[in-house]
Amino acid sequence: MSEKIFLCSICNINSGTCNEDCKFCSQSVRYKADIIRYKKKPIDAILKEAITARDNGALGFCLVTADKGLNDKTLEFVCSVAHAVQEVAPELRLIACNGTATLEQLLVLKEAGIKAYNHNLETSKEFYAEICTTHPWSERYETCENVNKAGIVLISGGIFGLGETQEDRISMLQSLHSLNPTSVPINFYHHNEALELQPNSLSVDEALQLIKLTREMIPHAERIMVAGGRELMFGTRQTEIFAHGANSIVIGNYLTTNGREMSKDLEMLSNLGFEVAKKVQ
Ligand code: SF4
Repeated sequence: MSEKIFLCSICNINSGTCNEDCKFCSQSVRYKADIIRYKKKPIDAILKEAITARDNGALGFCLVTADKGLNDKTLEFVCSVAHAVQEVAPELRLIACNGTATLEQLLVLKEAGIKAYNHNLETSKEFYAEICTTHPWSERYETCENVNKAGIVLISGGIFGLGETQEDRISMLQSLHSLNPTSVPINFYHHNEALELQPNSLSVDEALQLIKLTREMIPHAERIMVAGGRELMFGTRQTEIFAHGANSIVIGNYLTTNGREMSKDLEMLSNLGFEVAKKVQ
């Protein structure tokens, strides 16, 4: 039996309006990156993306808002989108990614049909203050704990290539391991010239070793997902991520950067002899 690869699609239902100062993020209003910004993506556009994702084999569909965290208005918007998506594409497993969240807010999302919550630690607790000064790493960790308390599936990972040391990477992976996430999305920093951060200097071989390290250090995670930066980081060597421990990828576009056509990823998986997962294990 061939290994099954879990496909996830992300939908930026609110874009580029965040006041935080995460140095890797083009969605912060502070850096004036040349991206499309909007408060609420029209529901028709969201539903179209959901149907396209489902038709291309995605099982996860993630509703992302660009903000530090949930407030009443955002929570209401995410819940209304969740209800609408379930009407047109009940096969999709809904994920929310809305920043800092309390236990109470997470329980509201759960009631609205959200099955999993994505909140990344991003980097190590030691390095975090170098990349963000407007909120502490501990707030990220606490939100992940709240997700576990709410009985929602925790998706938590981070970004490599921010200028962190190998010790930082190991520290982040240890912290992630302590949270027992079901899925660990790993991103590779995709430079935007509006950001002051230096471009990601990882080589392809180093990046592949980081996928392997993630798999080894978080052995109980059901999925190691290669998310943002895949095409840019690995180029023609993307096929090698699976041999290094990845069993999930994001298909389609990312939050502010384009991915490649979904059909190309499906073709790649088929050529490698993988099946697309039709249900969560
Ligand atoms: S809190 Fe999230 S959306 Fe806001 S700048 Fe940081 S990473 Fe970007």
